Amino acid sequence: MNKNQPIDLNFDKAHIWHPYTSMIDPLPVYPVTHTDKNRIFLETGESLIDGMASWWSALHGYNHPKLVKAMTEQASQMSHVMFGGITHAPAVNLCKKLVEITPEPLQRVFLADSGSVSVEVAIKMALQYWLSQGHHSKNKLMTAKKGYHGDTFAAMSVCDPVNSMHSMYQGFLPEHIFVDAPKSKFGEEQNDAELVALENTFKQHHNELAAFIIEPIVQNAGGMNFYNAKYLKKLRELCDEYDVLLILDEIATGFGRTGKMFACEHADIAPDILCIGKALTGGCMTLSATLTTDKVALGISQGEAKVLMHGPTFMGNPLACATAVASLELLEDTDWHGNVTRLYNAMQDLHRCESFEAVKEVRTLGAIGVVELLDVVDVAKIQKFFIEKGLWIRPFGKLIYIMPPYITSNEDIAQLIDGIYQAIEQKAY
Ligand SMILES: *Cc1c(COP(=O)(O)O)cnc(C)c1O
Repeated sequence: MNKNQPIDLNFDKAHIWHPYTSMIDPLPVYPVTHTDKNRIFLETGESLIDGMASWWSALHGYNHPKLVKAMTEQASQMSHVMFGGITHAPAVNLCKKLVEITPEPLQRVFLADSGSVSVEVAIKMALQYWLSQGHHSKNKLMTAKKGYHGDTFAAMSVCDPVNSMHSMYQGFLPEHIFVDAPKSKFGEEQNDAELVALENTFKQHHNELAAFIIEPIVQNAGGMNFYNAKYLKKLRELCDEYDVLLILDEIATGFGRTGKMFACEHADIAPDILCIGKALTGGCMTLSATLTTDKVALGISQGEAKVLMHGPTFMGNPLACATAVASLELLEDTDWHGNVTRLYNAMQDLHRCESFEAVKEVRTLGAIGVVELLDVVDVAKIQKFFIEKGLWIRPFGKLIYIMPPYITSNEDIAQLIDGIYQAIEQKAY
């Protein structure tokens, strides 16, 4: 394709939906021609320091030669072949690696095509498991408010009820049980009353519960809430005690972002079912996986259906799997932990934003930095300001946050932080 061919913004505006965007009065979109390392290049000539890693996914930055090589070699050999009755090296190699790097009890891998789908699969696994054990009443989920698990219907039914407008879909969405969002902060004291309340909800509802689903340690799109590892530990204990499966959604937190390979390692626990996605292919293409234990996998197959009732067309897509293998090799071969620690240290400078009255809180964990304001930002206005500073940061609600690629230099982090500081100082939101 010709890099110089103009991008038709008028057509875009008239015909194309962007995420969560009005068709009548759409937010501006910026035409991008290419990317490189941690830079995004606009058609209008600007180059932007990327603060978003394309929504948690581009860990190694863009166009990493190893990933490009994996993609081009795999594309020329076999982009796709059906997974029913067929297997191939990219899928086998990827699943081997996933079994190896995830907590020990997780041994069985289902490859799906996006994060939301992996959540659908996780929920199906939990429901089918209890059905096959003859527990027909265990068909509800419990979760915490402020969660985000994706935009498909089952996933949406466990997202924060207010953020995802459950009222609008009443009668269409299954109704689940919500506990308050975890309140005790990461690294601080765990409030005991909170754990007692959680236990009481388990006592009351366990007979109808198939699973508890939550994002471990960091609730992401539902509010960037960093919560206490003891909460997660307690959750594991309660799930064991009351015979409820624990589904951890590590689609955003997985692959080192919080300073551990998987965020559940902060609490030293393993889930019964794990969802991963986003950074799985290093941000190159869509792929997700749902992993589970022998107990759940074999339990499902003891049931009436004998099989898990799911099988997407592009399951185990070789191109995506080969890219994921290369991305995981890169993680192994680079000092991701050192980089995440370096970014964490560099991000401490974000705390100077606390001097503004408009700021409610600044928090950092792993390679994530969040400035929570008291008021909702005007996304179009602040984004324009950031672009003028050569930065790509996309706030939502009251949150200005960054989770840059791990390769980002300290100088670039300093620029991202400066940009955020100035945006608040100059009320550019
Ligand atoms: C992004 C995300 C999803 C949904 O993934 P998609 O690939 O967008 O479908 C689910 N859970 C969490 C925690 C996420 O961050």
